[in-house]
Amino acid sequence: MSEETKSLNFIEQIVEEDLANGMDKNKLRFRFPPEPNGYLHIGHAASICLNFGLGERYNAPVNLRFDDTNPAKEEQEYVDAIKKDIEWLGFKWDQELYSSDYFQQLYDWTVELIKKRKAYVDEQSSEEIRIQKGTPTSAGTNSPYRNRSVEENLDLFEKMKKGDFEEGSIVLRAKIDMAHNNMHMRDPILYRVLKKAHHRTGTNWCIFPMYDWTHGESDYIEQVSHSICTLEFKSHRELYDWYLDQVVSSDTLRPKQREFARRNLSYTVMSKRKLLQLVENKIVTGWDDPRMPTISGLRRRGYTPESIVNFSKMSGISKRDNVTDVALLEHSIKDHLNQITPRVMAVLDPVKVVITNYPEGKEEFLDAGYNDYAEGFGSRNVPFSREIYIEKEDFREEANKKFFRLKLGKEVRLKNAYIIKAESCTKDENGNVTEIQCTYDEDSLSGSGSEASQRKVKGTLHWVSAKHAVEAEVRVYDRLFNDEAPDGHKDKEFMEFLNPDSLEVITAYIEPSLKTAKIGDRFQFQRKGYFCIDNDSSDGKLVFNRTVPLRDSWAKEEKK
Ligand code: ATP
Ligand code: MG
Repeated sequence: MSEETKSLNFIEQIVEEDLANGMDKNKLRFRFPPEPNGYLHIGHAASICLNFGLGERYNAPVNLRFDDTNPAKEEQEYVDAIKKDIEWLGFKWDQELYSSDYFQQLYDWTVELIKKRKAYVDEQSSEEIRIQKGTPTSAGTNSPYRNRSVEENLDLFEKMKKGDFEEGSIVLRAKIDMAHNNMHMRDPILYRVLKKAHHRTGTNWCIFPMYDWTHGESDYIEQVSHSICTLEFKSHRELYDWYLDQVVSSDTLRPKQREFARRNLSYTVMSKRKLLQLVENKIVTGWDDPRMPTISGLRRRGYTPESIVNFSKMSGISKRDNVTDVALLEHSIKDHLNQITPRVMAVLDPVKVVITNYPEGKEEFLDAGYNDYAEGFGSRNVPFSREIYIEKEDFREEANKKFFRLKLGKEVRLKNAYIIKAESCTKDENGNVTEIQCTYDEDSLSGSGSEASQRKVKGTLHWVSAKHAVEAEVRVYDRLFNDEAPDGHKDKEFMEFLNPDSLEVITAYIEPSLKTAKIGDRFQFQRKGYFCIDNDSSDGKLVFNRTVPLRDSWAKEEKK
């Protein structure tokens, strides 16, 4: 195996083999086939990156195909959201296609199947049909309707199409083999009646083709060369091929289904059905709630498309089911934000510091950069005055030698400003510190070049000037579930593992340079983490989402 082949994922290797076996490179064609019954999640991103990645590697078209055969669950809102998310991730599809556009073709093929005695109308209840299916170890039983005449089947199917039957009262089934060792081959359902308006075909159709019948034939119509889906469809492959056998003609390309493992993520659920439950039960504010594992939620949370694509690369394409640690996703976004965000100061849990030897009424506008190395951001002014806020946790009356922050009688440097020394503090009746009195070294201003400015003190704290600081709402998110695999318990529902503290809303003081920031802007709040401006912000009031903290508090928990 060459070096190049080794670095290919196994799906790419399959394509390579096909090319080596004489397949025409120009015939390569891929698709991403979402059902518009919810918003895309980080699992879909794996499939998107895989399919569009193949398109990029082989310079082949990738279609966006909406697999829209269930009007009970699908909506235009989801179509729009899916398109927006794929574009945001940075991918361009060749054609925008819909399975519902093939309803007539599928119907015509079905009529042919009936004529070839390969399909029949079954009027039994779904329960009866289920019981007759048998089990993996015992054969099923033939339906009493299995041997209807072609004429009767054609007539009934026509009536189904006209709306003469109620939902659930009748289905059309393929006639394959009720004793087949693959359960999917035991006379699978081809069509069911659904009397709901479809988001595209309206009320034109009241019979809808099932997934298996639709998917492979859509691949064939579009001449998709490699139809990539997730592992749960592996056992459907035989049926996929059987259906293709019924329609493929020899001079056309025959699509090939291949499967890879779903991406699962720890500490969350990842099925649209479950995510919809969170939305409908108002556990979250919507599909784009920043705690959701959806693409739109991650976007609102402050994730970049690059971080999601990079995460997909790192977590890879696998043949076996596995769970990716959410810490890898968090690592990916931290890594990117570290390179692109300006560093600013915000105090999330403030306590006031009064610098007693700093003149009352005086203010200075200190020149500060944004980053040590990201020069593109230019510089900013940070106002300094006699009263400032620091984080409560950055002060202790007494502490051991390892506490490099402010303690009585000791010095720290204020980032971009002066060295201060804690002299005394005031407390309320409960013993909580309400104010710290400090003195400052007038000659110690950072960057002034003076001897005092070069003085080494152990700690550096972020701060904001009390008079100049702006109040902002900060939404601090934690994991939505406090269990590693919330839907992996036999005896418990995933909803039982909701983390009651997944959202904390606090009021923070931010430096005034942020007043002009816009929705979506991202920052590093020094020593605190990465934050972005939420679209709930209005002119007078900024709302920030915490994207990720700088350090992983969960990792610490585990080590304890
Ligand atoms: P869900 O159970 O979340 O609704 P789905 O598979 O029903 O997922 P589709 O809209 O049918 O969702 O998926 C579109 C494509 O994305 C399919 O090819 C599917 O295999 C793939 N996909 C969905 N979820 C994942 C996942 N967790 N990991 C990788 N690929 C996925
Ligand atoms: Mg699905």
